[in-house]
This record gives sequence, structure tokens and C-alpha cells, in this order.
Amino acid sequence: MPELPDLEIIREYLAPRLPGVAVTGVDTPRPLIVRNLAGGEPADALPGRRFTGVARRGKNLLLSLDSGVTIVITPMLAGRIRYAAPLGKKRVRDALILSLDNGMELRYHDAKDMGKVYIVADLNQAPGMMEMGPEADDPALTLGAFRERLKKHQGEIKGVLTNQRFVAGIGNAYADEILWCAAIYPMRRRASLSEQEVERLYNCMRIALQRAVETLRERVGDRIDVEVRDFLAIHGKDDGECPRCGGRISTITYERSTTYFCRNCQPGLMVNKGRSLELPGRN
Ligand SMILES: [Zn+2]
Repeated sequence: MPELPDLEIIREYLAPRLPGVAVTGVDTPRPLIVRNLAGGEPADALPGRRFTGVARRGKNLLLSLDSGVTIVITPMLAGRIRYAAPLGKKRVRDALILSLDNGMELRYHDAKDMGKVYIVADLNQAPGMMEMGPEADDPALTLGAFRERLKKHQGEIKGVLTNQRFVAGIGNAYADEILWCAAIYPMRRRASLSEQEVERLYNCMRIALQRAVETLRERVGDRIDVEVRDFLAIHGKDDGECPRCGGRISTITYERSTTYFCRNCQPGLMVNKGRSLELPGRN
């Protein structure tokens, strides 16, 4: 699932390339995924229009056009954005294909049909946008502001971290990385976290996201449609070892989403059995 770091790299890639480029053709092989909330059909709204900007909000990519509309791509679990020379054929599960006047094409492909592409006149027309919290990497989101926001959210801490109303941009994979970094059991109740644990959580959120952006910036290159996740410490490491303690990584699958954690470093009980862990500071 593309999350803040993945989409940030796609934004960085497209930002110097798309503005000024015009859409010459629109194909929507899977029309249920592409919704024109600005009125009319997608195929009518886009041809002849030029891109004016590329931005990101949470786990959404925003492509603005000179007509004032914005294409909001919400990739959810499996959506992929491809910007390259035309493939010359439709692939199964291609949902939107934009031909461009610079000879390239922009495709949205979704193997699970769970994502959406919205064409909106006002960003708040896109579902969830109005209620979204601050970006997880927003400099204005200080530790103090983070603490205050956290108080309003109940339940298990992983659920809070991935709630876009709390902070925007974190999904299943980076929540696992952040909680492992902070040595917090993913199913801990938010209210049970100590002041110190909340500070660790905040620091780890910043560290994990920033390091991922830096790594992806070096690794992704032109293949923005390929998700790079092999550098993660714990998420996706089936049968792997915890890089901190060497213990076996545990998984819990619930509603098709798998949580990875280390039972040693992230104990489920409140007591940490007196072991000392090496925990990260601000840098
Ligand atoms: Zn461990």
C-alpha cells in the first residue's frame, strides 16, 4: 500500500515533469474506479487540459489542471502509478490511461480494484480529505501538538497511528516500522502509553518516515510503479529475525492486514522484564 514515503517520492518524480504537459487522450477501462465529482464524464473533463502542479496529501496524489480541477489518486492497497513511454496496450486492471502531448503516458493500475481516482473541482469533494489530520511529517506537528491530538483518540495504538484523522500518511507498513522502532506493542491501548512512550512514538514516526523517503529517493528511479519495501526493518519480513534482538518476528493477521512485530522488543505486557533496549533518540 503506497504510504507517505512512497507517494512523496512519486510526487518528487512527477513535480518537475508534469506541469505544462497537456492531456491529449483519456481512456477509462475500469470506469467504476474513476469518478468525476466535478460533473460529467472523465473523458470530457481532461483532454486539452494542462497540468499545473503535483502535490500529495496523506496517502493521496494530487494532480492539478489548468481548468481548476484536480485529479486525486487514492491508491489504497495495490494501486500503482506509471509515468513512461506508452505501453501500446491495455493491461488487465489498468483503470485510467492519460495520453500526454510530450509523448509519455500516465497510467493508474489497480490489481485489487480498491483504490480510486477522483476528479474534483474542490479538494474537499474527495472522500476523507476534509477530516484529514496534519501530515505525519509536517514541521508544525510538534511533540506537544502530537500529544494533544493523541489524547482525542482511543483504542489500540496501531489503529490510531493509521487513522488518517489523527495524522495523515501512515498505513499498515510504516505503522509497524514506527511501533517497532518505539518498542511499543501494536495492540497497546493508547491510554496506557506513558509520556516517555509517546515521545518515543513521535520521534520514531519522524525517523522512520524520513529515512524511508531518503532510501526511496535513492532506490526508486524511473520505476515509480514498483513498490520498494525490502529495506524495512520488520514489516513484510515473514520468518525473519528482529534486527535489534535477533528474535523471530511475529505476525498477526486481522481483516486481510498483517501486523509484524517483535515479541521481545515490543512486549504485550506492561512490564518489560528489566531488559534494556537500545532506543533511538531524536536523530
Ligand atoms: Zn526484537
